Amino acid sequence: SSNIRVGIVGYGNLGRGVQQAIQQNPDMELVAIFTRRDPGPLAEETGVLTERLSDVEQYIGRIDVMILCGGSATDLPDQTPQLVKLFNTVDSFDTHAKIPDFYEKVNAAAQEGGKVGVISTGWDPGLFSMNRLLMQAVLPEGQDYTFWGTGVSQGHSDAIRRVPGVKAGVQYTVPVQAVIERIRSGETPQLSTREKHRRDCFVVAQEGADQEAVRRTITDMPDYFADYDTTVTFITEQELAAEHSGMPHGGFVIRSAVTGNGSKQIAEFGLKLDSNPEFTASVLIAYARAAYRLSNEGAVGAKTVFDIPLGYLSPKAAEVLRRELL
Ligand code: NDP
Repeated sequence: SSNIRVGIVGYGNLGRGVQQAIQQNPDMELVAIFTRRDPGPLAEETGVLTERLSDVEQYIGRIDVMILCGGSATDLPDQTPQLVKLFNTVDSFDTHAKIPDFYEKVNAAAQEGGKVGVISTGWDPGLFSMNRLLMQAVLPEGQDYTFWGTGVSQGHSDAIRRVPGVKAGVQYTVPVQAVIERIRSGETPQLSTREKHRRDCFVVAQEGADQEAVRRTITDMPDYFADYDTTVTFITEQELAAEHSGMPHGGFVIRSAVTGNGSKQIAEFGLKLDSNPEFTASVLIAYARAAYRLSNEGAVGAKTVFDIPLGYLSPKAAEVLRRELL
């Protein structure tokens, strides 16, 4: 068939989301899932061919694009440069400060293998980055704002769970609505960290834990919470399971600018996501299609959302896009 043959590397939230998203994209075909764990039980869970990541070389020539679903902290920094020597890849590496270094490493490996490696796609980095670039280019005189939430931050939730006396917990990043309204109405305030987002924590305390001490340890935690207005609400395990097991997220990129003799121009792009991993997975699929096309045209090296023509994301032909969407 002429389908794009994809593989999934790493089967967590994102990997699961990619498997589901492939079903909404008839031009894609899932060949296999690769994992560092014992593939036996996962094969049962996924219902598709599941292999050890160490056996991946057997799939050279049988997979057009590998969708890398490992974590940004420790998986992708190793996995992307290794795999892009053998396959076209797409990943969602999201440690913003380390993207330039990651780009260099992936680019060198991709050049060596003659492959395309699309890095740091998803929504932020990814679709939000595109919108920041687009509106800065169109409106040079102005100010950008990015707000995240309301949504679950994995890193901050992990930080809570490491606090002594905490059994379980989840953290929501919440944009400060009043400030967003000021920006939408044309103001361009300089905002501190605290003025942009609030952090709401829902915590299940261990039996006998000093809740006041737990609260203070969380709210005083440097980098994670100290610079924010943070609330800590103690709940039961049942409440946590019933009300806080989803992975919603979203946010907006806003550019407030002026043109001419002071005409105000406000551009906004927003996302409201019931499931962060399912959405991110859907973005990865569209970029896998672009990676496949770029590679077929002879492109080689690391690419970001800035380097990829928008039309390459769509399964529709260019002439169809011109007729239907232009
Ligand atoms: P997970 O922690 O669910 O999965 C990461 C890896 O951990 C998997 O690939 C898997 O590898 C391993 N793993 C998963 N579940 C288990 C388990 N039960 N036991 C042991 N190992 C497990 O992370 P997510 O899928 O939620 O997120 C992946 C990355 O996506 C994040 O680190 C984040 O940086 C990025 N991301 C980017 C976004 C963007 O907008 N750019 C948005 C959202 C996420 P293996 O199968 O090999 O064991």
